[in-house]
Amino acid sequence: MPIKPFQAESKHLLDLMIHSIYTHKEIFLRELISNASDAIDKLYYKTLSEENTGLNRDDFAIRIVPDKENRKLTISDNGCGMTREELETNLGTIAKSGSLDFKNEFEKKPDIEIIGQFGVGFYSAFMVSDHVAAVSRAFGGDETFRWESHGAEGYTVEPCEKRETCGTDIIIDLKPDTEDEKYGEYLDAYTLRSLIKKYSDYIRYPIRMNVEKS
Ligand code: ADP
Ligand code: MG
Repeated sequence: MPIKPFQAESKHLLDLMIHSIYTHKEIFLRELISNASDAIDKLYYKTLSEENTGLNRDDFAIRIVPDKENRKLTISDNGCGMTREELETNLGTIAKSGSLDFKNEFEKKPDIEIIGQFGVGFYSAFMVSDHVAAVSRAFGGDETFRWESHGAEGYTVEPCEKRETCGTDIIIDLKPDTEDEKYGEYLDAYTLRSLIKKYSDYIRYPIRMNVEKS
């Protein structure tokens, strides 16, 4: 008898993701930082394999921007970015990993270390947020698009104000009750630093944080 493929029910899958797969909600930061690092690695791969990207390894960084007043946390990278189609396929399909495809498609280079593979990490942001946006400009592309979602209902993708460089900003509106018993508030520099130290110490690109003056 022929084997029939399972159909994924995206809403249920997202619920499962948010409520069951991860036991510690603070790992959302690790997941978003690992995606930023992968995006940079993909662009760095281009700089190694093509001659004229005009970029050096030192040009790359991940930036964390807490905005306490508006309860927004932004994780930015100046990596490969995503086209409109890539936003649709990579962020619009649960369990689709553009990073795994990249690993399979390209020859392994000694100086890059892609982390992603399961295509679910991004959605861990919904453990701490009801509204997540990804503003992205692909390398070589002239347009910037904004992917946005309130969770299980779906997402929208629209053109938006141009980002200065290629790369992606993941902007998460933190829910009011996300203060972590152990680590504190995800908008505090101290908390963010502790989480980065604990979970993202191995990331090979600089992680910089904008510290708000108080
Ligand atoms: P994984 O990292 O295991 O592939 P994720 O759910 O974390 O799964 O991300 C899904 C896909 O979305 C990634 O494989 C990648 O193609 C794309 N993506 C996520 N974040 C970024 C980013 N900051 N820049 C570029 N692409 C990204
Ligand atoms: Mg990931």
